[in-house]
Amino acid sequence: RYKEKWAATAPRIPPTRLALHHFDVNYSLQLKDLWPSVRASLLCEQKYGALLNNFSAVDHVTQELELLNATDFVSQAPKKALRWQRGAAAEEAGRGESRSQEGSGEGRTAMQAETMTRAETSPPLRPSISSNIKCYTFPRGDVTRFRPARPDALGLLDYYLMDAASLLPVLALNVQPDDFVLDLCAAPGGKTLALLQTGICGYLAANDVSISRTKRLYQILHSYVPKVIRETVSVTSYDGRDWGQLQGSTFHKVLVDVPCTTDRHSVMEEENNIFHRRRTKERQMLPMLQLQLLMAGILATKPGGEVVYSTCSLSPLQNEYVIERAVEIAETEFNISIHVEDLSHFRTLFQDTFSFFVDCRLGELVLPHLTANFGPMYFCKLRRM
Ligand code: SAM
Repeated sequence: RYKEKWAATAPRIPPTRLALHHFDVNYSLQLKDLWPSVRASLLCEQKYGALLNNFSAVDHVTQELELLNATDFVSQAPKKALRWQRGAAAEEAGRGESRSQEGSGEGRTAMQAETMTRAETSPPLRPSISSNIKCYTFPRGDVTRFRPARPDALGLLDYYLMDAASLLPVLALNVQPDDFVLDLCAAPGGKTLALLQTGICGYLAANDVSISRTKRLYQILHSYVPKVIRETVSVTSYDGRDWGQLQGSTFHKVLVDVPCTTDRHSVMEEENNIFHRRRTKERQMLPMLQLQLLMAGILATKPGGEVVYSTCSLSPLQNEYVIERAVEIAETEFNISIHVEDLSHFRTLFQDTFSFFVDCRLGELVLPHLTANFGPMYFCKLRRM
């Protein structure tokens, strides 16, 4: 029987086109009217943030960045959120005042006072974020590029350029002094470096199954972190799925930053593209791998400890569905109760810097936007009870 060798003769569709087609079909259903603008942003130059290296001499760098009109979005966030909430509260109080003109004067003052007090004490204004982390970004709509990082007198680079939204999972982890922290899928190491910038980890384990990518992690540690500190980081190359059995119930905080469809990379770069036809099976298996890694992360956490799961994909199959399934399996197969933490205050805190998707059922999702072209970045925090 004649068998057509279509694979050899059919025109080769580049993986970037396959990715875009796949996203058009799926994300237009999920994001609806938002998809055209997110799509355009994915196809445009992404924005970076400059994570300051607290181990280098940074004073002159902060001055230099501030002269360029960049600001540290982490330290600015609570101040901006306070202003924003006070504005909203004043508006509401104003509305209350006009409503109560018909009622008693006493009620009016009490209500105004209460609205203002609520604004000053509600959760968004008590951010528990690791404040030693400083990351400079240019304002919305400003597409200035940062100069490449430079070494200080001791040879340590002054900042690390990264998608600023990648810091949100690290901030959500909210490392506390002396916490034992595991970064389960750590390479090339942007988030490991951010965890080290907190300066308070009691112990940091950075793992990645890929030996070549682990080498890049070593390079980053070498370029940014003094020897005495980098020698305290335990770098390993295990399959993260086995971690629960290796060091179960050990860590206060676990970051599970899983491999995903890396949506921005998939529509822009042909090289190492997960939409290449020969990687179809690997791509289809991603949610299963992600679930196994998240389960390992949960098992590695002490009771009372916390896990942050993150991806740089918009896909609910790789985001919320993985969370839901993990919570279910933890309960039914391991008798572990999980609480999905509310991170909605991140939306208030960081609304000036990032565009958030408001309809995420679990966790938070940063959507790429032409005036704030960060992300996509999904993150969700779980507490092991
Ligand atoms: N957290 C990193 C950072 O901020 O630089 C990025 C991590 S990247 C999104 C996902 C990583 O997961 C890749 O480096 C990949 O090698 C690693 N990975 C894939 N499968 C893994 C497994 N079974 N166990 C551990 N790591 C794995």
